[in-house]
Amino acid sequence: SDSHFPVPISPSQFDYTLHYPKINSSKKIEFADIGCGFGGLLISLSTLFPDKLMIGMELRDKVTEYVKERILALRVSNPGQYENVSVVRTNSMKYIPNYFEKGQLSKMFFLFPDPHFKEKNHRRRVISPHLLDEYAYVLRVGGIIYTITDVEELGVWMKSCLDGHPLFEAVSEDELEADPVVKLLSTATEEGQKVARNEGQTFRAVFRRTAPCVLD
Ligand code: SAM
Repeated sequence: SDSHFPVPISPSQFDYTLHYPKINSSKKIEFADIGCGFGGLLISLSTLFPDKLMIGMELRDKVTEYVKERILALRVSNPGQYENVSVVRTNSMKYIPNYFEKGQLSKMFFLFPDPHFKEKNHRRRVISPHLLDEYAYVLRVGGIIYTITDVEELGVWMKSCLDGHPLFEAVSEDELEADPVVKLLSTATEEGQKVARNEGQTFRAVFRRTAPCVLD
């Protein structure tokens, strides 16, 4: 249960020196991979964006430990690399504002999240109208939320939640084409690779955090 892992009481209490010991600047985390699983996306992003700090948030203890070890091993075998990536065990549905300040993040990832099929379990989905308020809070204006799933019903649900939210707009097809991160959504994650091996379909929704519209 949640009581077994520590949670910072506020973003300023998050221990950057523990997670990014070689980074000695006031840089803050900009990318968050929610439900990162085995960390494949983060590993790819780490070298693609060497100047950005990024973190995976994962609920399962053993999986989190695996990702931690994976990152430490990569740091050892590639000196100077992978210092910008880390992972934390947490329940992202409860504690996002404990980790990130308002407008801190430029990218959030929700890749192949658990579907929670039954209607009564929809409140357990990581994308919901209520949680999007929280994600809008921690994302800066212009920041991007990336979602992908192989479950059509969940894909439709995530897209409709984002479409219905006043602080998100769909990213255009042209921009998706030009964004190197988009290709990684299915190629870099363990779940995406599994779906690709089985020649499964995927459903993607990528939205931008917009500025609130001011009425005059
Ligand atoms: N994103 C990875 C990928 O594409 O390979 C993993 C996908 S896996 C199907 C979903 C992951 O989300 C699992 O590792 C699960 O433990 C994690 N998860 C589920 N609920 C969570 C929560 N509330 N907070 C953090 N992680 C969660």
